[in-house]
Amino acid sequence: MHSDQTKSALSAKQLNSEDTLRVGECINHKRQLEAFCTVCHVLICPTCLMFGEHKGHLVDQMDKATKDLRTQMDSAAKEGLLKLEKTETVLVDIRHTKLTFEESKQKVLKEIEQTFATIFKLIKQRKDEVVNLINQHYEIQVNNIDTQEQIWMDKQSRAYDVIKLAKSTNDYQLLEKATYILESLDILRQTPTYKNVFIVNSIDTTFNTNNISLNLSEFQKGLQNWIKLGESVLIQFKC
Ligand SMILES: [Zn+2]
Ligand SMILES: [Zn+2]
Repeated sequence: MHSDQTKSALSAKQLNSEDTLRVGECINHKRQLEAFCTVCHVLICPTCLMFGEHKGHLVDQMDKATKDLRTQMDSAAKEGLLKLEKTETVLVDIRHTKLTFEESKQKVLKEIEQTFATIFKLIKQRKDEVVNLINQHYEIQVNNIDTQEQIWMDKQSRAYDVIKLAKSTNDYQLLEKATYILESLDILRQTPTYKNVFIVNSIDTTFNTNNISLNLSEFQKGLQNWIKLGESVLIQFKC
C-alpha cells in the first residue's frame, strides 16, 4: 500500500460511504483534519502541521486543494489521458507478450519431451541389440563346447562298450561287433586337441562418433551437461 494512505488520516470507510468528501479525524492525533499538505498530498490536522511529520510543509486549505485537484483532473480529461484506448492499446500489447511467453514455454517443453523420448528409445533399442549380440555370441560358443561334450560322452560310452565286449565269451557275437570295436579303438586312440572358444571379458563403453572417442566417464560427463537452454531472443513490449 502507498504510504500516503496511512499518512492520510481519512479512513477507507469514510471514503466509501460518501460521495462528497467528509472531513474526518486524524488517526494520529484524534483532531479534525483541516488542511491539505501539498508536499505529501494528504489531509492533516493542526497537530500534524505544527508538531507532526508535516511540520514545515506547505499546506492549502481544503477547498483550495480540492479546486486545484479538480482543475488537474479536468485538464487531464481534455488531453485525452483518461480515454480507454490510451491504456487499452498498451494492455493489449502486454497481454500479447504474456501469450507469447506461454506459447514459447509450451513449445520448448514439447521439444524437451520429444528429444528425451527419442533418446530413451534409442538407448533402449541399443540395449536390446547389445543383449542380443551377447546372447548370440554365447550361444555359438556354448554350442561348440556342447558338441565336444557330446563327442566325448560318445567316446566314453564306446570305451564302456569295449570293456563289456572284452569280457564276452561269445566269439561269434564279438566278431559281429568287430567294425564297431575297431572303429572305437581308433577313436579312443586320438589324442585330445585344443579348441578355441571365446568369452566376452567386459563391454566396450567407448562412445564413438565422427572420429571422436569418449571414454565412459567423459561420455557421462557430457550427458550430465547435455540439453541446455539455447540462445534467448529479445522480446520488447510497450509499457
Ligand atoms: Zn494529526
Ligand atoms: Zn507533509
